[in-house]
Amino acid sequence: MSRSRGPRSRFRRVPTTLTFLGAAQTVTGSRHLLTTSSGRKVLIDAGLFQGRRELRDRNWAPFTSGKLDAVVLTHAHIDHTGFLPRLCAQGLVGRVVCTKATKELAGLLLPDSGHLQEEDARHANERGYSKHDPALPLYTAADGRAAVQRMEGFAYHTPVAVVDGVSVIFRRAGHILGSAFLDLRVDGKRILFSGDLGRYGTPLLADPEDPTPGAGFAGGGAEPIDAMLLECTYGDKTHPEEPAADQLTKAVGGAIARGGPLLIPAFAIGRTQELLFLWRRLEHEGRIPKVPLFVDSPMATDATPLYLQHPEDQSEGVRTLLEQQVRPLTPARLTFVRGGAESAKLLDRTGFFAVIAASGMATGGRILGHLERHLPSAAATVLLVGYQAEQTRGRLLQDGVKQIKMRGGMVQVRATVQTMSGFSAHADWKEEERWLSKAAPPGRVFLVHGEPAALEAQRVRLSAKGWRVEAPQPDATVAL
Ligand SMILES: [Zn+2]
Repeated sequence: MSRSRGPRSRFRRVPTTLTFLGAAQTVTGSRHLLTTSSGRKVLIDAGLFQGRRELRDRNWAPFTSGKLDAVVLTHAHIDHTGFLPRLCAQGLVGRVVCTKATKELAGLLLPDSGHLQEEDARHANERGYSKHDPALPLYTAADGRAAVQRMEGFAYHTPVAVVDGVSVIFRRAGHILGSAFLDLRVDGKRILFSGDLGRYGTPLLADPEDPTPGAGFAGGGAEPIDAMLLECTYGDKTHPEEPAADQLTKAVGGAIARGGPLLIPAFAIGRTQELLFLWRRLEHEGRIPKVPLFVDSPMATDATPLYLQHPEDQSEGVRTLLEQQVRPLTPARLTFVRGGAESAKLLDRTGFFAVIAASGMATGGRILGHLERHLPSAAATVLLVGYQAEQTRGRLLQDGVKQIKMRGGMVQVRATVQTMSGFSAHADWKEEERWLSKAAPPGRVFLVHGEPAALEAQRVRLSAKGWRVEAPQPDATVAL
């Protein structure tokens, strides 16, 4: 475009735009590009696509949006941060801002993600199934560490001038430790990114704070919201009413009665700490006996103390136990297992004991060894505590298969498999309604981070209020 187009062009306003590079019509790969009227580029979240092959292939596509002035992260989950090491390694990133706890958790997650990428490439080379020769990792553990080095961690409620024309306040989302929704000012407009929104009244974390009023900006955050990005993971579902504590009490009781081990596949960050807190509380209340419990995961071992270092994210329940001098994440007979040799020794143990180990859907990690060892025993219990995606071992067990493929062999399933549905880190649509009711209707709403059916259900519901709502397609750009 020519730069001199006469005196009128000086008054032509270039609009602020938003491009939905990921988590559009799907739940992973969160990446939303803000371009300001002066051409500054800020990427909100830099997530990895996960799940189906055609989605994962998107992680390998060239990043065509050019150099980013800044990246702002809502929380540490890999589907919101796992693309950052790749962008940093390609020299495409200026500054990276997030909350303090997000930086700490990313310090565990991003190097580990790089390590897994290196392992994938190594397997591909060994078996010769890559299109590329040799197969290369998307990024390495060292790239993961380098990305963390670039991150600047801020407290909640502190206004951060990100780049010219863009400032942000991180506000507590109650989804995982350090998770935030973003209260942004972009070219003078107020834009709210929900990030992943947590739930009300969960055991471990404080509730999400209200979207309005906020604090820190001129106007106290009470000014209208021009645009909102709203996650819709549970846009068409509600969570069950039975409290997680009751379900866990029953599951532990049943497993003790069967006499064999209780195996709990769980994500190392978030779900493991929720389980530890509930377990401790149930022991404290005398609802379950003090029994041997092992957390067989180096990452969970490192992440757990962080949960006690951030009072801003703690629930009332956690604070109450702390006030009573009860260590809230340390059941009486808990052992953290870090080393591989200790973990292997645990496989020889007999009788009742409980093991929490990753991964949450039994797709990898140390839980596999425990499952392989104990699934053939009718005395053993497997407790599934999170969403089990299609085609994962967790889902197959949930569906009641009688034998299951594990590390090259078939394993008979005689153990009791139970599902506990009380855990979720995402608000369902009713909880989102409650959150939305605390703010004046936004000028526009963009629905993201949901499967198509969930997005459509939420679109219909919010449109019925007379709101201007859309669920953008991947790579769509809108002017704000
Ligand atoms: Zn998340």
